[in-house]
Amino acid sequence: MNNLEYDNYVECLMDDLWNIAQFIHSNPELAFCEFKSSEKQCEYLEVNGFKVEKGICGLETAFKAQIGNGKPHIAILSEYDALPDLGHACGHNLISTSALGTIVALKKFLENKKYEGTISIIGTPAEESGGGKIVLLQQGVFENVDAVFMMHPTSDKTRLAGECMSSMRLHMEFFGKSAHSGSHPEDGINALSAANLYFIATGLLRQQFKGDMRLSGIITNGGRQTGLIPDYVEIKGSISSFNLAELKKNVKKVENCAKGSALAMGCALKFEATEGYQGRIPNKTLSDICRKELENLGEPLLDGMPFDFGGEDLGNVSRLIPICNPYVTIFPDFKISNHTEQFRDLANSEAGYRCIDITCKAMGRSIIYLLENPHVIDVAKEELKERLLKE
Ligand SMILES: [Zn+2]
Ligand SMILES: [Zn+2]
Repeated sequence: MNNLEYDNYVECLMDDLWNIAQFIHSNPELAFCEFKSSEKQCEYLEVNGFKVEKGICGLETAFKAQIGNGKPHIAILSEYDALPDLGHACGHNLISTSALGTIVALKKFLENKKYEGTISIIGTPAEESGGGKIVLLQQGVFENVDAVFMMHPTSDKTRLAGECMSSMRLHMEFFGKSAHSGSHPEDGINALSAANLYFIATGLLRQQFKGDMRLSGIITNGGRQTGLIPDYVEIKGSISSFNLAELKKNVKKVENCAKGSALAMGCALKFEATEGYQGRIPNKTLSDICRKELENLGEPLLDGMPFDFGGEDLGNVSRLIPICNPYVTIFPDFKISNHTEQFRDLANSEAGYRCIDITCKAMGRSIIYLLENPHVIDVAKEELKERLLKE
């Protein structure tokens, strides 16, 4: 009965939600500059009676609104940034409208009912680059949040997301000494030779990497003129793995390769490794609830919680708060890549409409279940604690 009543609210919102999804799709905005997309969402929340905090934590395009009070506190996350040149090729227009639809339908459903608990929507900018959620985490926006829900569109069958990779960004500079390469090569210190050695050394180091470790790099500055010994070379790269602790161990070894290469050629070195996104830790307790609702809605699902080789800033959140991260399909036939024109066009098609509808229903029903059975959130928290001990 509850489900039917709730689903009905979702269906009444679908025209508005689809208009917003199309608006965001046709106004793609890059990380931290999602002004129109953010404003559109805040406007819709205000029209529906929410008091919206805009520009939170010094991020102009981040926002927050909530309903209810007390515990548990369940947050629904919205993403709305696009990709350079490709527009909404990751389908974040569907993530944002699914979050909006879920909380607005829940507000209507919970009115005049006696439920204890808080539900919030957090507008999180810059997922594709910049990591808005990491800033919001650092500034305490997720404090007191007990569970987090966020959908991401996908291809192949719908699934509950499993683990994904942690990554770190690498940046190094080799400093040598320039000289005429024809007449005075002996006066030069060749930074490009040090960079070459670095790629050979790390290529050999790869043989000792455990399983899933991935190391990549490019030379972003490799010299100025063919007649000059290169005195400055810059390399940018990244290293990723499902195991965050193992990844940090290997960063040290990569740094040693850089140091050894610089020493061998007589160069000075500046090496920096900065935290990227942390790997997602899925929460089975919460995912099972959402799986059941998706099944009840007749959605075909992949078994288990399949891992993927991507990375997202929801990963950082997932290591502190249990998350439920359904990947709802917009192309069920077979796996295609997101960040492509095909995926972008699907995010603006009837499949996108369907994705919002099914997501709002499954996430909202799951949240109602958690409000009725708040002890399940304690089980989810215990599961996360145990999983983190295994790192
Ligand atoms: Zn993406
Ligand atoms: Zn994405």
